[in-house]
Amino acid sequence: MGTLKLENIRKSFGSVDVLKGIGLDVKDGELVVFVGPSGCGKSTLLRIIAGLEGATSGEVLIDGAASGHVPPAKRGIAMVFQTYALYPHLTVRDNMGLGLKQAGTPAAEITARVAKASSMLSLDQYLARRPAELSGGQRQRVAIGRALVREPKLFLFDEPLSNLDAALRVNTRLEIARLHRELSATMIYVTHDQVEAMTLADRIVVLNNGRVEQVGAPMELYNSPANLFVAGFIGSPK
Ligand code: ADP
Ligand code: MG
Repeated sequence: MGTLKLENIRKSFGSVDVLKGIGLDVKDGELVVFVGPSGCGKSTLLRIIAGLEGATSGEVLIDGAASGHVPPAKRGIAMVFQTYALYPHLTVRDNMGLGLKQAGTPAAEITARVAKASSMLSLDQYLARRPAELSGGQRQRVAIGRALVREPKLFLFDEPLSNLDAALRVNTRLEIARLHRELSATMIYVTHDQVEAMTLADRIVVLNNGRVEQVGAPMELYNSPANLFVAGFIGSPK
């Protein structure tokens, strides 16, 4: 299971209110895309869901359980960052397996899970390389593999394609869509790119200035935008 509920999440940095009361229900197996302009609070919200940052108020519920005091490693969440965040001195194999090793997973189990993930992501022949010996697209696949091996309830992606060139962006996007189908995993995917949102999402959450402007299926937002901001952002004709 991997359901997520956000209840009135607020976050302030000093006197700046970045998130102004975010509520959302994500169903098991859903791929929900948070879309909104740069600076609207998308990464902050993901970090709060992952437990890397505390909310000022409000509650994150994972599979119905309040998670405010649950540390990141115990939330059953894996996050993929824009900058990959790989360890340069570790091989692909060790980068992918490190989290499991730190959690005390037996070596044979780590080997099996890394083998499975690297096969899903076509990384088998790169397992002995270090990140510097890989292309940007391959590095991001390693970062996705590192998330996969943890078999999380919930995957969080923070603008995972923004450092890739145009062709790789399309390939990696299709790869994430395929993983979503094959794993039936619950995924939250953050982007400021309307095309990514429209093509990947089961539902889109449009964020602006710390609030939810509208939630709906891509064509629902396209055909019936709630306001001019959503229309402008999603690219609706009205
Ligand atoms: P997005 O990911 O949508 O571009 P962010 O969540 O990164 O937006 O940031 C939202 C706002 O919060 C920005 O104005 C940013 O400057 C501010 N912010 C983010 N993290 C911090 C922090 N640790 N301290 C102060 N301000 C922050
Ligand atoms: Mg961000």
